[in-house]
Amino acid sequence: MPSAALHDVVVIGAGAAGVSAAIECADIQLDVLVLEGAATVGGQIDQIPHSVRNVAVAPDGNDSLVDALTRHASILGDRLQLGRTVTRLDLDAGIVEAGTYRCQARSVLVATGSRRRELDNAPEGSYGGDVTYLVEPHLARFAGRPMAVIGGGDSAALDALALATEGSMVTLVHRSPHLTARGDVVERVRSEDRITELAGWTLDMMIGSDQLQGVEVSDRTTGDHRRLDVGGVVLKLGREQRVDLVRDQLNLGRRGGIEVDAALRTSHPRAFAAGDVVEGAYERIATAIGQGSLAAHSILAFLEARP
Ligand SMILES: Cc1cc2nc3c(=O)[nH]c(=O)nc-3n(C[C@H](O)[C@H](O)[C@H](O)COP(=O)(O)OP(=O)(O)OC[C@H]3O[C@@H](n4cnc5c(N)ncnc54)[C@H](O)[C@@H]3O)c2cc1C
Repeated sequence: MPSAALHDVVVIGAGAAGVSAAIECADIQLDVLVLEGAATVGGQIDQIPHSVRNVAVAPDGNDSLVDALTRHASILGDRLQLGRTVTRLDLDAGIVEAGTYRCQARSVLVATGSRRRELDNAPEGSYGGDVTYLVEPHLARFAGRPMAVIGGGDSAALDALALATEGSMVTLVHRSPHLTARGDVVERVRSEDRITELAGWTLDMMIGSDQLQGVEVSDRTTGDHRRLDVGGVVLKLGREQRVDLVRDQLNLGRRGGIEVDAALRTSHPRAFAAGDVVEGAYERIATAIGQGSLAAHSILAFLEARP
């Protein structure tokens, strides 16, 4: 087998964090390679249903943000490889594999981001389309139907409000004793007559096959069960960091993200992490871009100390 090419740094993931890091690495003359599983750069930005307003350099909305990242990333040329999902990473040996493709890395930046948490038995669009994880594109379909929204954060509360505005009676089911959404959103929920809150309750099962007939929920403290006759369910179960490649090689935090120090160094000297995959990340585009840049700086310091 021919020896695998050796790179100063291999970046895994071309979301906001990975692209920002790679551009900075290229700028400081590091031999950088970016491996991205998807066919496009930008990661989660593509999935944001609303117009992003909190990124100062992209006042024209999400498409302009992805366009800007794509245009910027094009300076990487063939050092950015799309459609290459990294399938194995051996940090001790510095080996990175994407299917049959293999290369060597003096350092690695893990910028694999996060994915939404899903139920195995209830993927998007199941039960004849009555189950969704993203209500915005389906508001017209669900308008006026009795609905259940599962989750207690900002996203769940805002979805419940959007459905109520469309005339649905909504039951908002969440495991914690209190909603964890922003104070102003909680206030709006509490003053909306069409929303009933079940705090401390959990989803047990969906009822139906070709279409949803209802859901069964239970009180986590008393064990009481209740059937909700709803015509749709919105699942807002949060997100989980994509750490499959490094689960057994790096220290992870309580929330499942990669533990890093202030310079974004991980528990393995060769590995750095940036963006949503970091434990306790403030999940924002600007944060991911900033961390990507900082990671490049830290990687340079690491490589210079080990000629
Ligand atoms: C619905 C929604 C709304 C949001 N709204 C806002 C908002 O208004 N403002 C804001 O600032 N932020 C918002 N965010 C958060 C923001 O999008 C993220 O914080 C940011 O995009 C994270 O960037 P990242 O590079 O860390 O990760 P990601 O964008 O998740 O990118 C990670 C990349 O790694 C790739 N990858 C993963 N595993 C592998 C592998 N094994 N091999 C190769 N590639 C891999 C993925 O394909 C992906 O492209 C929102 C997020 C969501 C989901």
